[in-house]
Amino acid sequence: MVEIREPDVLKTPFPKEEPVCRVGIVLEEDNKTFIEMDLGAGEYHLEADQKTIPVKFDSRTSLSIKVSGDHLECGNREKGDILKTQGFLRLIPRTGKKEPSPRSGILMKGIVAGRGFHWQKEVDLTFPDQFEFHNRNGKLVVVNVLPMESYLTCVVTSEMSATCPPEFIKAQATAARSWMLVFLKNKHIDEPFSICNDDCCQRYQGTTHLSEGVAQHVAETRGMCIVTYEGYICGAYYSKSCGGIMESARNIFGEGAVGISAATDAPPDSPTALFNPITEENAREWIMGDFLKKSDSFCSPNTCPEEKLPQFLGAVDEAGHYYRWQKQYAHEELVQYLKTKAEIKDIAEFIDFQAKFRGNSGRIHELEVLYKDSGGNRKKRTIKSQYQIRNALHEKFLFSSAFVWDFEKDDTGKIMKIVLHGAGWGHGVGLCQIGALGMALKGYSYTDILKHYYGKTSLVKAY
Ligand SMILES: [Zn+2]
Ligand SMILES: [Zn+2]
Repeated sequence: MVEIREPDVLKTPFPKEEPVCRVGIVLEEDNKTFIEMDLGAGEYHLEADQKTIPVKFDSRTSLSIKVSGDHLECGNREKGDILKTQGFLRLIPRTGKKEPSPRSGILMKGIVAGRGFHWQKEVDLTFPDQFEFHNRNGKLVVVNVLPMESYLTCVVTSEMSATCPPEFIKAQATAARSWMLVFLKNKHIDEPFSICNDDCCQRYQGTTHLSEGVAQHVAETRGMCIVTYEGYICGAYYSKSCGGIMESARNIFGEGAVGISAATDAPPDSPTALFNPITEENAREWIMGDFLKKSDSFCSPNTCPEEKLPQFLGAVDEAGHYYRWQKQYAHEELVQYLKTKAEIKDIAEFIDFQAKFRGNSGRIHELEVLYKDSGGNRKKRTIKSQYQIRNALHEKFLFSSAFVWDFEKDDTGKIMKIVLHGAGWGHGVGLCQIGALGMALKGYSYTDILKHYYGKTSLVKAY
């Protein structure tokens, strides 16, 4: 799931060989100065200051890295301090196979997942291959260094579950590969890594949730990329659930997002298409009307029953209502969010919302807030992107900006309760993960799935 507003997609040429990925798994903003890890028996190289220290463990061993002033210290209980460096430190396994297999690699404790979202938590995760440890302004930064295909094998089982159908796994791997090739170079400039491990980039939890078959399905798509009609790799955005109609990439990422259209996420000739685009007139029926009972969207519960979803979702995903959802606020609670998160500092009473601009999927891109200040003066303020709207209307982050609203008022007409009725999770551009799952469950192939979500593109093997 990719959530942050992007710069325009660059014209990305094909890589000549499989790239190496540098994934930040502990970031400076995580505020950590210490990490503990568990290493399997075997031989490792620790590298620092152009020195290589070979270490050998006969059984499972705990190793820690600590920031101490402008130094990094590495040690364990049995051997004490192993080394101390002012530079960065590298940990390279020398024995055992390098390709990811279920729970292979090094166990890292207390890794942040869902950074900044309402589902943020700390988890212990295993990661394959090599690591770098950096001291950045007194905070620890940990980077996992591994080949692209190993990285993708881990991404598909972090974004969604390893029990997803093979054609879904292949579609997700190909979308993630294409996205990665486009954004590898411009996501985290000035950091010692090129992408992070979370929804800001792509969810990456190493080999923790991998199963044997998954690596084989990903390998069947090795090097395959989604390519725009201009011959460049497509910045293949994807999100958890479009809500039935995909959002126009232009509304969220600007003019540069090529190859992705705001199509209906349903079979050809579906009545769902009659709603595209969502407007103020049809939004309420789309989100909460009788139409829902017969909706045949690939991401609707009629295709992917909600009680079956938890087995297919990622380990940090919440079991939830992704296609349609509700969020309720007491008046004071909403005012508090608008005051602190939308910085409407003089709001005393909330009066109404107005959707100034909705995209095809029903997502609001400009939301006007009507309110009174403490002197009783009527005022308005516009929140200007789906990202800001979602940030403003939730303690952490609202599921999507596709919503309509109802109020409960007291006898004097004052609003007591605000209810949002919403559709979809995430920005809704490109591949809809739950919709792609629905297509795979219905028997579509991975090439059909990619053709459906990235209409004006083709598939090309880059390496
Ligand atoms: Zn990132
Ligand atoms: Zn969808």
